Amino acid sequence: MDTQPIRKWYTLAAADVTEALHSDAAQGLTQQEAERRLAKHGANQLAENKRKPLYAVFLDQFKDFMVLILFIATLISYFLGEYLDAITIIAIIIINGILGFIQEAKAERSLQALKELASPMARVIREGQISMIPASRLVPGDLVVLEAGDRVPADMRLLTANRLEIEESALTGESVPVAKNVKKLDTAQASTVPLGDQKNLAFMGTMVTGGTGSGIVVATGMDTEIGKIAHMMNAAEEVETPLQARLEQMGKILVVVALLLTIVVIVAGVWHGHELFTMFLAGVSLAVAAIPEGLPAIVTVALALGVQRMIRRNAIVRKLPSVETLGCASVICSDKTGTLTQNKMTVTHVWHSDSTYEVTGSGYVPEGAFHYQGKMVSPTRDGALTQIIRIADRCNNARLICEEQGTRNLLGMGKTTRHWQIVGDPTEGALKVLAAKATGHAGERGNPKQQSVRVEELPFDSDRKMMSVVEKGADGVHSLLTKGAAEAVLARSTHILWGGQLQPLTASLRHRVLEQTELMAGQALRVLGFAYKTLQGYRPGQPIGTLENNLVFVGLVGMIDPPREEVRSAINLCHQAGIKTVMITGDHKVTAEAIARQIGMMRGYGEVLEGRELDGMSDEALAEHAERVTVYARVSPEHKLRIVRALQSKGHVVAMTGDGVNDAPAIKTSDIGIAMGITGTDVTKEAADLVLRDDNFATIVAAVEEGRNIYDNIRKFIRYLLASNVGEILVMFFAMLLGLPLPLVPIQILWVNLVTDGLPAMALGVDQAEADTMYQRPRNKAENIFGRGLGWKIISRGFLIGAMTLLAFWLTLRENPNDLVHAQTVAFVTLVMAQLIHVFDCRSQYSVFHRNVFENKYLVWAVISSLVLVIGVVYIDALQPIFKTTDLSLRDWALILVTSGVPTFVAGIGGVLASGRSQAGREKRSAMRTVRPD
Ligand code: ATP
Repeated sequence: MDTQPIRKWYTLAAADVTEALHSDAAQGLTQQEAERRLAKHGANQLAENKRKPLYAVFLDQFKDFMVLILFIATLISYFLGEYLDAITIIAIIIINGILGFIQEAKAERSLQALKELASPMARVIREGQISMIPASRLVPGDLVVLEAGDRVPADMRLLTANRLEIEESALTGESVPVAKNVKKLDTAQASTVPLGDQKNLAFMGTMVTGGTGSGIVVATGMDTEIGKIAHMMNAAEEVETPLQARLEQMGKILVVVALLLTIVVIVAGVWHGHELFTMFLAGVSLAVAAIPEGLPAIVTVALALGVQRMIRRNAIVRKLPSVETLGCASVICSDKTGTLTQNKMTVTHVWHSDSTYEVTGSGYVPEGAFHYQGKMVSPTRDGALTQIIRIADRCNNARLICEEQGTRNLLGMGKTTRHWQIVGDPTEGALKVLAAKATGHAGERGNPKQQSVRVEELPFDSDRKMMSVVEKGADGVHSLLTKGAAEAVLARSTHILWGGQLQPLTASLRHRVLEQTELMAGQALRVLGFAYKTLQGYRPGQPIGTLENNLVFVGLVGMIDPPREEVRSAINLCHQAGIKTVMITGDHKVTAEAIARQIGMMRGYGEVLEGRELDGMSDEALAEHAERVTVYARVSPEHKLRIVRALQSKGHVVAMTGDGVNDAPAIKTSDIGIAMGITGTDVTKEAADLVLRDDNFATIVAAVEEGRNIYDNIRKFIRYLLASNVGEILVMFFAMLLGLPLPLVPIQILWVNLVTDGLPAMALGVDQAEADTMYQRPRNKAENIFGRGLGWKIISRGFLIGAMTLLAFWLTLRENPNDLVHAQTVAFVTLVMAQLIHVFDCRSQYSVFHRNVFENKYLVWAVISSLVLVIGVVYIDALQPIFKTTDLSLRDWALILVTSGVPTFVAGIGGVLASGRSQAGREKRSAMRTVRPD
């Protein structure tokens, strides 16, 4: 088999390509052959830069500025003969490095898993079955189907091209889409054909902008045209979130502050008669204490783990910074079909000539009857009904398939259950089921010789809102069968089949049809119109506009698409959380409004705006309206962009969903672009920040909730780490200013800072959300991370921790002025305990009493392990000389517990009082809100 990339595939006829690649233009490859080829050719991927090896990640932990200072301190200790200090500092640096390494490796792993989840898929036919597989598993010879919105997954020779247009700017720089065909190119000019003119090939990485097609894969991975030019594709860039960038900046300021403080402490210490070396080490330790070196790593871990939680709730984050923006979302604009509704359509009504038929049955099971005025009737009883059913069946790309599953009962008796499924668009699936109910056949039927064949398809798009097929009958006559949005089809019709007669479509008949459409739409039905015409002098490839006109309207079909069960409560949650919900749909105004009412979106004050009304509005007028509109109906994807801009101009942070290729601009412009995982096109997914694995609205709300939680958790451990650092600095600072002996020895400061703090901070990063997370208004995007009182909490709690530690030290020293080691041990343990108690306070923005202490198991274990470590350092004989500690008595412990508890409990009582006041305020505000809805 020859699959060399140099081969000029465009010079071969489609059949020759299929043969050369030992494939099959109808069945594709067998699974087994595909596996064999995959092993031979490798994955269909562009080579990425190598990932950083683990040892490099480990070494990176020691590149820090703070670690550098510590190394210098170690060297100085070593040269001054303080070997024990030098070794201990090194040991602490290594333990800290290992902790950092574990965190980073964990974050890296989950982000890698995320990348794999978001990788592209391809529609492939193998053994005659169509399925979606990861594009990386494609092999030469695979038969691939292309649709508008797909990114072409490999280089392909096209076998079919139905108005297929591909935008190849990734490869050729030319942004005007190229119309593709399947004709082989003239061999004479073969050697000079540039890529842009190889019209029968589709190239990896280019984008299908319209039509449909299929082709045989001729090259994969680095053998493709894009592989040849992009020899090395950089692994997706690591983007820093705005918060990470801000924290990095803050880190720089803290370095300067730390150095200044260090100098003050050293000078004050030496002034009061302390040894220069001791003061130097103390200064260095303090500098280390002041720099929150653990912060960036923990932020990354908190983001990565949060993102993992989102995956578990079916939301895949494509762009990390959006995790922060999610919590600020103030409007969620959502598609209707499939996101708010189940996208499980069932036809319930058929109407023509003022006669309404009801169709029974549910789901995709092709069993049901037609009723007219309460009586069962034959679906072939009149010509118009038969014609509607014919169009429903033929102007359709969906397939109805039946899977049989055999089960055996306890007695070993076999039973077969049949499970009906739809492959393709659910709207079309429902029409296939309707046709099957009418004819009693679920698949192809009749004598193929007598059947008409499809010559061409004018694919559905959401601007025209209709689809047609051209068929050639057994008699050689061409006809056009059309279905689509009722008004759209009606607008292109000039005649109507009314009471069995072909009649001109008069204004009153037109009005009658529209009236009926509204009536059905008012029952939350999706209403489609059906029409046909006989084509005279048909030529293939004629412009769509010249075909879809002068139609004969036949009738209407109404189908239900029930709302998703979980959507109602998700919308309720949004309202509680101060998030406005908006429906944007291509569907009929009345259908959209009826569904919006069912799911609790129209809270009595929502307006409905149609696409054509929107067209007549200036941007300013739209911005004014946008505040009140709840449902946008009959809109095209282009309208979505204007809606996003209008809402943004009013200060909203907008989340916008989309699936089709034309939705990409709106998704990109919105603050949080959301793509559908199941029905979404590659182009939309690539533009999106978030992909919904289940296309479900409730998943967006879950992601917002997680987004809020992640941000809150980041605030929690920033608060914990910084308050701890402030406490450590202040205890030393005050002691020096008051002329006291050193309350903590340098090794103890390092230990507290690098070892005891780390685990509890990490555990805060995965803390459960506070009960009222979704009862708060969305956060302001410009809010400072220290906003809403966080800065004050850090300083006040830090001050109390420092002051209480110093008090415990001073009381112990006063009792026994000759035993400095004892007093220092008490100060050391008080500091550790105060922080370990304070960590529980950090879980709540109100007070420690607002939350169950044992809820976060990781935190409980982290605190226990930090406690065990500190007890070890105090009581193990061998460690006492290293950490300059001594055994503590019960009396010491009593003092420690009282002093270390004060910062948290004093603040806790304050918090309870304050939250009581704000609760009363909230109740008052909410009472006012109920009077005047926002
Ligand atoms: P949403 O935008 O919420 O997903 P939608 O699915 O109704 O709603 P579109 O896909 O743009 O939006 O469809 C617009 C209209 O086009 C539908 O209301 C329906 O009348 C019609 N329509 C939808 N699918 C088809 C199809 N396969 N063939 C013909 N007409 C269709």
